[in-house]
Parts: sequence; structure tokens; C-alpha cells
Amino acid sequence: MKQAEELQQILRRIDHKGYPAYKDTAGAYQCRDYVLSIDHVQGDPFASPSKVSIHIDGKKAGFPADLIREKHTRTALADALLRRFGREVEQYSHKAKGSGKSGLLSVSRPGQEVLERSACEISPDSGDLLVRMEIGFPANGRTIHSGELIKILFRFLPECVQNALFYKNADQKHLKAVKELAQDQQFIRGQLKEKHLAAFVADGAILPRESGISDRPMKQAVPFLSPESMAVELHLPNAGIIRGMGIPQGITLIVGGGYHGKSTLLKALERGVYNHIAKDGREYVITDDTAVKIRAEDGRSIQGTDISMFINGLPNGKDTRSFVTEDASGSTSQAANVIEAMEAGTRLFLIDEDTSATNFMIRDELMARVVHPKMEPITPFIDRVEELADGYGISTILVAGSCGSYFYKADHVIQMMQYQPKEITRLAKQEAERFLDLTKDKPALAAADRPSFHRVFGAAKKALPNDRTKVKGMGKDAVSIDRDAIELRYVEQLVDPEQTMALGYMVKYAKQHLFNGKRELREIAALLEQLAAEKGIGAVCEGRYLPCNLAVPRVQEIFACLNRCRTLR
Ligand code: ADP
Ligand code: MG
Repeated sequence: MKQAEELQQILRRIDHKGYPAYKDTAGAYQCRDYVLSIDHVQGDPFASPSKVSIHIDGKKAGFPADLIREKHTRTALADALLRRFGREVEQYSHKAKGSGKSGLLSVSRPGQEVLERSACEISPDSGDLLVRMEIGFPANGRTIHSGELIKILFRFLPECVQNALFYKNADQKHLKAVKELAQDQQFIRGQLKEKHLAAFVADGAILPRESGISDRPMKQAVPFLSPESMAVELHLPNAGIIRGMGIPQGITLIVGGGYHGKSTLLKALERGVYNHIAKDGREYVITDDTAVKIRAEDGRSIQGTDISMFINGLPNGKDTRSFVTEDASGSTSQAANVIEAMEAGTRLFLIDEDTSATNFMIRDELMARVVHPKMEPITPFIDRVEELADGYGISTILVAGSCGSYFYKADHVIQMMQYQPKEITRLAKQEAERFLDLTKDKPALAAADRPSFHRVFGAAKKALPNDRTKVKGMGKDAVSIDRDAIELRYVEQLVDPEQTMALGYMVKYAKQHLFNGKRELREIAALLEQLAAEKGIGAVCEGRYLPCNLAVPRVQEIFACLNRCRTLR
């Protein structure tokens, strides 16, 4: 291992030289309490900044074992350290001057969710800490200005590392609170299974967000309060007794007038598959973590999904047992989204009427009388929703503002009234009974054949040139692998652009190593998930250094991404 002094010497030697001489600094250097590793040096001052990592021995970092032993608390700790380190680093960004990205210091900026990230890793055994970041190596024009980099690496950075990454300097009370929240959240997830609940929404939760572009809690929102009839009390290991609405497994309908908070509740449930940080307002909104939001997605590609459970006998004679299209309609896209979510192992569908294809969700009796069922390829979701619950163990939580047909199917009906839930199951059922005349002599529908989940693909249509293949993220909306873009805008439970990036690397890895004409798609999704879980998200990246901007997606989103890849054949 080289010593820090050596790095200083190199830097003094290359001062005022052409920018590429910075390449000489690559390598690992022993600093006083940590190892500074320069993993990749940018090619010029305007290129993407250099990649630097900080390695701290577990004994020196000193985080207690009860913070790092279990995955959920370890992830929460890494998240907390990253936020703290980010605040430190921010003060120094652009304090060193120069052209282009000179003096930029940046680390991952987590949002409201707590996700596992490549920016901060803690080893469960040794407690070794690894933080990855970017630094813009300073230049004047295109000449090295190494005095400024010395300032960054030997004055600013050590200060940040000292303040943020050692337990002895940490806000220990805060870290204890972080650990306890993670334990309580984990406990609620366990209770969902035990009590056969699909989701739990605590009293006092703040569901709405500040604005369409801010994920922070809305100020002065009406706090959530469970109706007495659906209230559940849980004894959390740390926070004590907590009361909230337990949504049982089965079919749940959320109704209510426009603007009364239906979609807001559903959105919170969608996000409840992740843990949230304290003060988010949704820290005790916990949903079955396999839940998938289902929506219409016109224009998506479908590669051989068996949508025959919902769609049969298309006018063009297309096979719906292995449906292929580059431009799906509202109903076919939503059908594919349902089937693929089943394939990805979901136990809960989350559906909002606002973002659904009406002809996929329902068909009213008058329409059925006018357009003969033989002329209608779609079996609407309403005719399968019970079969999905009883035969497949998949619950549904559905927001319906305008269509009452689901009253007949629902086990529970919740009405949102001025942002407060009321259970109205009995009333809704009574009204539905009175209204029954139109539907009563409808013949029972035979159960659908189980969808086939055996899709197999060979390699990509166009083989990837080599491991230099570029993975490029476009926020949460899309990721492209060697210029093949995968649209992810409507995969609504992707919550962080770093997850999108990670998915890009996963698809690239799968194309290079996993697709072989034999493995089923769901097997490939599972292998990718396993690789990330066992070896860290970095395992899917094969470059010379590991990106500092990856966050782990769920297997459901891995699957969703593979399913939207237009180049599988
Ligand atoms: P719906 O789907 O029933 O039409 P939304 O969920 O879209 O209604 O909510 C309508 C508006 O009310 C949104 O602007 C939302 O931010 C706001 N809102 C939702 N829940 C609350 C709440 N608990 N307190 C205050 N405002 C809320
Ligand atoms: Mg709505």
C-alpha cells in the first residue's frame, strides 16, 4: 500500500502539466485513519468527475455490532451515514476552483426511501466501511492545478470523513433512533404476514406530499386515522403500541368523491414496499413488499407474455398465450402488467382507476347486451379478481371513484372522506344487493388456464460489443444499454434514478451472461436479485471500478425492466 505522502509527491510533480497526467494518481493510499482510493481519473476537466472511495477498517469505524449485524439495520445505518457525509461534503463542493467540474465533490443523495446503495457499504462481519464518491479534479483550462486537489484530498475530505464516518464522532442518539425505526419497520412487515394483512397504515401518518415534484411530507396535511372497524394495534419492539388501519388480504375497494384522497392513499401504499426515513410521515405505512402497482401502459412492448387469462380471440388472430407486440394498447398492456407481476411473485395488486384502461377493468351490462360477448376479446379484471385472490393468493387494493361494479367483489370497502378513511362495507353491499337485477342471471365464468411462465430468450438481437457497453440512465424514466432504451416511466415503484441505473447494469449483465436460450425469464430475474443480495449491487458491474450511483431495486422491478426490453428474442 502506498502512503498518503506519495500521493502528495505525485501531485506536486504533475502540477501545471497536461490534464492526462492526473492518471498517475490512480491507486490506493494509506491516510491516517482510512484508505483513500482513486479508482478512476476523469479524462478531462469537463468529463464525468473522478471516482474516489474511502475505506475504513471496521475496528476504527467502531460501529456497534447491533447496528450492523442484520441487513435492515445495516442498510438504515449506511443510509444515515451517507446523508450525514453528504451534508459534510456539500459544504466543500466547489470551494476548490478551476474550469469545468473542477472542485466538485459529490455523493449519492438519498430521497425519502431507505435503499441499499453502492455509495455506502458496510461489511456485516468486519464492520468495514466503504464510501464511494465523485471529485472533479481541478484544472486551469486543461492544465492540472494540483494545489487545489491537495486542498480537497488533504484538508476538506479528511474533515468530512472524520465528522461523518466514525462512530466516536457520530450523533449516537440519532443512530440509535435510526436502528430502532428500522427494527420497528421490519417488525411490522413480519406482522403483516402473521395477521394476514396486505398493508398497515398507522394513525398519524402523513400521506400527501408537498408537491408533484417534491417527495417531502405536505405541511398541514390531515393526519391519517384508522376507522375503528379496521383498527389494528401492534406492539412494536421499540416505539411501543401503535394503532393503525390494517388492510386485510383479499379484495379491498377504496371509494370516495373526487379529491378526497383516494389516489394519495394508494400512492402511499405503493411506496410502503420500502422503508421511509423518520419524519417522512410514511415511516409506519408498510405494505406487503411484493406489491405491484398495475396500470395501463399504452405503447410498451410485450415479448411473449401469456395474457390469455384476460384476452382471447383478437380480430387479427394473434396468439395471446404468447403475446408479442411493440406497441401495446391500454388493455393489453395492463393485462401484461398483471401477468408479469404474477410471474414476479406478487401477492398484492395495487390499481387506480385513474390510470387504468376502462375496458380492462369492467364491462357494463348495457354494453354486454349491445356488443355480443363473442365479439369481445377482453375478459375484464373484475371477472378474474376473485379467482386471483382465491386461486392464486393475490390480493387486490383498488381505487374506484366512478364505477360501482366492484362492490360485488370487494371484501372490504373503504370510503375516503375529506382525507379520512371510513369503512362502508356493509352499506356498499346493501346498496349493491338492491341494484343486483341486471347482473343476477349472468352465467358463471370458467376459471382461466394458469398462465404459462416459461418464457425463454436467447441472447439479444444485437450482441453487446464488449464490456465497454455504455449504460446510461435518464432519471427514473428510462435506461439505455448500448443505445437500446428501456422505458421505465410507468414502472411507478421505481423510486430512485440509482435503481434505474442498477437495472441498466443488470440487463447488460444478463445479456452478457445469463440469457442462453434455456433459462426462463423469471429465473434470470431471480439470479440477478440473488447476485445483488449476496455479493452487493456491484456484482453486476464489470467495469474497472464500481459506479457510486447504484441502488438496489426489488425483484419485481428487475422483472419489469427485463419485460420492457425490446431487444430480447
Ligand atoms: P382523489 O384520488 O380522491 O381524487 P387525491 O388523492 O388525488 O384525490 O387528492 C386530492 C388532493 O388532496 C391532492 O392535491 C392531495 O395532495 C391532497 N390531499 C390528499 N390527502 C391529503 C391529506 N391527508 N391532507 C391534506 N391534503 C391531502
Ligand atoms: Mg385519484
